[in-house]
Amino acid sequence: MSMSAQSLAQLRVGPGGGFNLAEHDTRWLPDGLASLKKKARRSAGDRLLAANKLDLEEAQALLYADGQYSVLIVLQAMDAAGKDGTIKHVMSGVNPQGCRVSGFKVPSALEVDHDFLWRYEKELPQRGQIGIFNRSYYEDVLVVRVHPQILDAQPLPEKPDGEAFWQGRYDDINNFEEHLVRNGTVVLKFFLNLSKEEQKRRFLARLDTPDKNWKFSAADIRERGYWDDYMDAFGRCINATATEVAPWWVIPADRKWAARAMVADIITNTINSLDLHYPQLSAAERKDLARARTELEAEG
Ligand code: AMP
Ligand code: MG
Repeated sequence: MSMSAQSLAQLRVGPGGGFNLAEHDTRWLPDGLASLKKKARRSAGDRLLAANKLDLEEAQALLYADGQYSVLIVLQAMDAAGKDGTIKHVMSGVNPQGCRVSGFKVPSALEVDHDFLWRYEKELPQRGQIGIFNRSYYEDVLVVRVHPQILDAQPLPEKPDGEAFWQGRYDDINNFEEHLVRNGTVVLKFFLNLSKEEQKRRFLARLDTPDKNWKFSAADIRERGYWDDYMDAFGRCINATATEVAPWWVIPADRKWAARAMVADIITNTINSLDLHYPQLSAAERKDLARARTELEAEG
């Protein structure tokens, strides 16, 4: 059983501007899972996630040894779509030395005193490393586009009056990502696509479960009230920033287990498609190793 790369390719959004978020089924499953009976699906999905976790561990070790590329994983979604759970489950097998998660909240005073990409740039992964952005510079064209009054408190020379301002930010993001890719960073952008109904179920679960209460904030329900504005902002953002070098992956997120399996599969396939090698030793280095062996063995 495998989730064919061909089937998952349907989730990839490249350039062309024809992306329509409303047409994306939040419960879609790849061929390998969709063809199974309901009960078998879940366990097949879990097996796949487990297998991919092992593959990812190996892929990350090779990425680290090769030392040429870094991988930036961007996770964007509405609240309760499963960003935290996806990070926890997908990355649990990866060597913590080769991986770092950065979360981004409302920017600080120091951060808004810089250009909007500054705080993200500082968190970028170095070569050999996987960096995960739990929210990212895309917030600056998502939550900020839905609530442009956020910018009132920011000392910007240009105020957002109309499309040109947002197009400017999309251009900045595209240029930034192109720059990263050119310098050896693989940019993997995931939008966990949750339905409004499933968000309601998950919010209610957070309210019903005392251990999950802390995850709920009054702001969450307020933002839910802007659902259509967010979908509009996501649609525009994905269309404007899905490029050949940094496409979007729109992940159906109503089933947590399936979303995790798909994300793990895409990350693993992407790293495995890089031309990675363990460093080759020169003849001189090999000789050094042989000498070291002789010395160790001579210790008796
Ligand atoms: P959470 O990730 O649920 O802890 O929430 C973080 C909050 O910070 C969310 O409501 C985001 O919309 C908000 N946030 C993140 N980045 C920005 C930004 N650049 N500008 C304004 N709000 C942001
Ligand atoms: Mg939240």
